[in-house]
Amino acid sequence: MVPVVFRAGCPDCRGSFELTASALRLAIGATSKTTFYSFTCPDCGAAVRKPAGERIVELLTGGGVRTLRLHSAVQ
Ligand SMILES: [Zn+2]
Repeated sequence: MVPVVFRAGCPDCRGSFELTASALRLAIGATSKTTFYSFTCPDCGAAVRKPAGERIVELLTGGGVRTLRLHSAVQ
């Protein structure tokens, strides 16, 4: 299996780095507004959360990133 790395940036320290799939988490909500990916900045330790569009979701799930499916409490 080819290891996949994802380029990411930190809004806190403005660092730019590459993360492996195991460093990322993807949460898929009911709408695109509640779909995001998160990681811990390796430079400053900040917990970063960014919205994930359709293409990013495809990229991350295809790369083996752990995915959490969020369910709306009110149906
Ligand atoms: Zn940072």
